Amino acid sequence: MPSLYIHVPFCIRKCDYCAFYSHSLVNSPKDLISVYLEGLEVEMVKRQKDAPQGVSSLFIGGGTPTALKDSDLECLMDLIQRHFRLDPEAEQTMEGNPGTITTSKLNILRRYGINRFSLGVQTFDDKLLSAVGRMHTAQEARDAIGRLRATGFNNLNLDLMFGLPSQDMGTWQATVEEALSYSPEHLSLYGLMLEEGTPLHSRYKVGAIDETDETDEVDKEQKLESRCGPAENVGCETLPDDDLQAEMHDWAVKRLKQAGYTNYETSNFALPDYECRHNLGYWRGEDYLGLGPGGVSCLNRVRWKNIEEVRTYQSRLDNGQDPMDESGQEALSLQECMAERMILGLRLEEGVNLTLFRNDFGVDLRDIYRDVLERYKNKDVLIFQGDYLRLNPKYSFVANSILQEFVGLV
Ligand code: SF4
Repeated sequence: MPSLYIHVPFCIRKCDYCAFYSHSLVNSPKDLISVYLEGLEVEMVKRQKDAPQGVSSLFIGGGTPTALKDSDLECLMDLIQRHFRLDPEAEQTMEGNPGTITTSKLNILRRYGINRFSLGVQTFDDKLLSAVGRMHTAQEARDAIGRLRATGFNNLNLDLMFGLPSQDMGTWQATVEEALSYSPEHLSLYGLMLEEGTPLHSRYKVGAIDETDETDEVDKEQKLESRCGPAENVGCETLPDDDLQAEMHDWAVKRLKQAGYTNYETSNFALPDYECRHNLGYWRGEDYLGLGPGGVSCLNRVRWKNIEEVRTYQSRLDNGQDPMDESGQEALSLQECMAERMILGLRLEEGVNLTLFRNDFGVDLRDIYRDVLERYKNKDVLIFQGDYLRLNPKYSFVANSILQEFVGLV
């Protein structure tokens, strides 16, 4: 049974670091959401045959799904309920951002069975929020948490970010401590990524160049102002370096473990039994359906991605065509699936399940990856424990380079 992801590609406005696909509602034509919902309904009718027994979990992400107004949110929930069978006990998550969360929206979600909420807090520091162009304040995040608890959400994830412009250890610790004071069942911690093409990336580039720039101060300031806006906004010159980011991450890991959370995936922490089941499905190599513009699906080792542009997505569906993007369906080779299983599985604290690997691929991973396993096992980097192969958490900071070794090995 696959899991179901629905992409809602709308935000009130774009954050300065965001490279995800989403439309700023401030700049979008008024009918764009109804065009989206029309397309989504046709895609659901088309795809429901891929989940004849129903779906194992639901995740409505974005974007900012809570940016939809009440009636659109109700329409979206109604579409899902009419087209996909979902056990009431199944995990059903919605993502949302502070400043867009009202009691009436939360009541709609509860009524339709949403039982987990993921809130994009990022930081409880207003200066840092505005340095990365988030549209909300810290107080709005606190209010959203209060509303979520008051409307009965007892499975709550808070997203936090470290490595923000001019963030120091003290402000990061204050954010983590405040987050812990709300006893969220789950926390996701991400380092800020400077993605090319984003406003933050251009500002940082100017800042970085300036460190060795010989031009006089007035010129520098003009250059910065033309790329970053008023000089007081230029927090981008002081992005925490890699060492400080690593310290922030390590401190948080220790603090959250001390508070009773398990670091069950590199960036994810949960109280016992509150691991995100939907995401665990991705990391364990289970099938998934991803609907909506930009949605990605993978069924029986065939993967495809939907086109991102909302109107093209809708008009293709309306004309009876597939909404896939130009790369079309990609049949994954056995080798690619095995490498993916290793890369995703070793990010999990539990590791890769040996029996499942053998059942799914018909080979023992100890035979397939003998050389690389020998090399790292001897160095105590990879550990066999029961029916699992795990990455020693001491080496999680070099995980990417180790995991890359599994690509193209077979
Ligand atoms: S709220 Fe999330 S998806 Fe929307 S612009 Fe900000 S980072 Fe991107």
